[in-house]
Amino acid sequence: MGVKKKKNGESVQNGGIKPHHETNGSLKETFPDPFAVTWAEKYSAGFEKVWSKIPKFLGAFIVTSAICTMGLGISGDWLLILVHSLKQYRGNLVEDVDINNVDGLIESLRLKNFSYFWLGATAVSYIIYYGIGGFLHWYFYVRQRDRPHEWKCQPTKFMSPELERHEIIFGSLTLFLNSTATAMVACYISNGGYSTIYYNISDYPTWWFFLQFVVIFVYQDYATYLLHRLYHVPFLYKHFHKMHHKYKQPTAFSVTAIHPVESIHIQLTLILPIFVIPLHWGPFYIVALYTYYHGIIDHSGINFKAYWWQPWQPDAIFHDNHHQYFHVNFAFNIYFWDILHGTYRRKDRVYTEDIFYGRGKELTEATAEELKTDIEERKSENPKAYRGDKLVYILTDKDLQEQDIKTTVIKKKKKKYY
Ligand SMILES: [Zn+2]
Ligand SMILES: [Zn+2]
Repeated sequence: MGVKKKKNGESVQNGGIKPHHETNGSLKETFPDPFAVTWAEKYSAGFEKVWSKIPKFLGAFIVTSAICTMGLGISGDWLLILVHSLKQYRGNLVEDVDINNVDGLIESLRLKNFSYFWLGATAVSYIIYYGIGGFLHWYFYVRQRDRPHEWKCQPTKFMSPELERHEIIFGSLTLFLNSTATAMVACYISNGGYSTIYYNISDYPTWWFFLQFVVIFVYQDYATYLLHRLYHVPFLYKHFHKMHHKYKQPTAFSVTAIHPVESIHIQLTLILPIFVIPLHWGPFYIVALYTYYHGIIDHSGINFKAYWWQPWQPDAIFHDNHHQYFHVNFAFNIYFWDILHGTYRRKDRVYTEDIFYGRGKELTEATAEELKTDIEERKSENPKAYRGDKLVYILTDKDLQEQDIKTTVIKKKKKKYY
């Protein structure tokens, strides 16, 4: 009832479930899958009671802090921050190990006490991923499920319960890998392993301390833009990146739902500077926090907008478009890279999963079928996700006439019937 499967079976109208308040608390009949985030639905009434007592400004603060904390936790970065803070104030956590004089491989790899690092990183990562991810899910997808036009980038489409389950299980597996990798790096550094991180601001000129924010941010964002584009080349897309694009209506849980090979590749690219150029740990992690925060925002499927002080930052709809239209808008935090390389979404182009390389297809070259699907997709976007509540990409009759599209469509359609 109310469930309308798309032909690929991956998206359902309104999530395939009724708004929680219409179910009379009987969720089993509408949402039987135990993995499909039923836990948030089940306790919704209780949450709602507590939430209604919290003042509005405090509510907004909690949501923002939740997203920030999730950002820090999802790859175990809190552990690296802890290690660096302790090193700054107390010197090395463990006495420097002399590689020539230690017994055993573990010490020589500077992985002494790894199990503690690993347990800590993994436990906190999972608590945050499920706890905070669940909170966001409840706050928007459950609590405001009956009014998606107010907050959702694609208000008429929700992921199916099967896909939500897939996203969380897959995201959790990659999370395991991420936290293990972070624990290794944190352990290695705390045991005095090689890195170009420094701890006293006075070790290098003060201007370098401030310039680092820009250098790290621009490096990481441009590198991940190029890497992302590389993973959209047909071979790599089909074998690795396509997994992340199963989610046409992404949620906060999608953020780690990436093929393990690609995920490690991203982590290595992001972390590279701490082994190459002298960086203070502070700027490095402030930028990391910023990047993770936006990773979650951009995948949330919610109409978050960039603040006035972030003129480089696209709104959440930018990456949501990437998931809806596939090979376009490859950047993350600086949309200029897409403008520079001609991969920024254009109104006069059609984009589908089969049109590679980020430039789309001209309207006049698209088949009638492609055009029809594309026009429907554009209509399903939420004007509230754009500045001035305007659907920037909607194609009016005038737009179509200007390009002589309508006649083409009509002609092609006629052809079909003959
Ligand atoms: Zn992609
Ligand atoms: Zn994505």
